[in-house]
Amino acid sequence: MERTFIMVKPDGVQRGLVGEVIQRLECKGFTLVGLKQLTVSRELAESHYAVHKERPFFKSLVEFITSGPVVASVWEGDGVVASARKLIGATNPLTAEPGTIRGDFGVSIGRNLIHGSDAIETAQSEVALWFEDGELSSWKPSITPWIYED
Ligand code: GDP
Ligand code: MG
Repeated sequence: MERTFIMVKPDGVQRGLVGEVIQRLECKGFTLVGLKQLTVSRELAESHYAVHKERPFFKSLVEFITSGPVVASVWEGDGVVASARKLIGATNPLTAEPGTIRGDFGVSIGRNLIHGSDAIETAQSEVALWFEDGELSSWKPSITPWIYED
């Protein structure tokens, strides 16, 4: 089953949006398989955002992500990678559609509340970067027949 990595960034934690984010993903029908709050080390932040290391915002992004606790999670479900990106909305909250998490709660690209893996391969490497195998639970919710046809 497909998995993705979702992180509520320090601004989302400070603003009390952890429950909102979890609720939106749960209500959609995705399954939570890993969850933890942590303060991110510089090393982890730089690895996570390595693809952006030449960008002008890289330094401020790493400083921001390491500035306070984040809530990291892993979610499972059919098409969860792309679907979670849709629920999250566009990178800039000002242009993100209403109804998305960024569209409903943010106004600034440097305070866009949440991260979600952008592709299946990225999701696999981000899950492995942030979680040990033993921190993840493989389980099948008993309501599965009410979410999936087969
Ligand atoms: P995402 O996949 O939608 O999160 O966006 P990207 O992978 O392109 O960028 C990673 C993160 O870097 C974004 O979520 C923003 O927090 C930040 N970011 C991206 N572009 C900019 C920018 O132009 N300025 C600033 N300050 N931050 C940016
Ligand atoms: Mg990205």
